[in-house]
Amino acid sequence: MKASRDPPRFGAVRQYCTPVTREEFTGVHKNRKGNKMLIKAGVSIARLERNTRWGLRVVEDVFAAHKQEMIVTSTDEGNHGAGSLHYANQALDVRRPDEDRAAMSTEIKAGLGKDFDLVIEFDHWHIEYDPK
Ligand SMILES: [Zn+2]
Repeated sequence: MKASRDPPRFGAVRQYCTPVTREEFTGVHKNRKGNKMLIKAGVSIARLERNTRWGLRVVEDVFAAHKQEMIVTSTDEGNHGAGSLHYANQALDVRRPDEDRAAMSTEIKAGLGKDFDLVIEFDHWHIEYDPK
């Protein structure tokens, strides 16, 4: 059976993605274009599957183009639903950007293509590699 997505789409979002404050960052990554990406303390992008890592770069580029700070709030740690692709290293969460959300989500979806899903949650965007 295929792993399901994060089950709690609405109400329960806060249970598995708490807002990140600046003090909580431990990691700062620079991508190949020199764009900065912040990683929440306790979160690691090291284990992401190759396709998901590719998707992360697409997301980074859109955040950079819109001059929005990118913060990875979750990968495979934490409290995701049973069967979540987070545990398969095929999903990640980024904090919702402050501005340009409509344009950015459209660009991210277009850049990622049909094998990815972008799920807009209350305070973060869930991105998963889920080939159709
Ligand atoms: Zn998620």
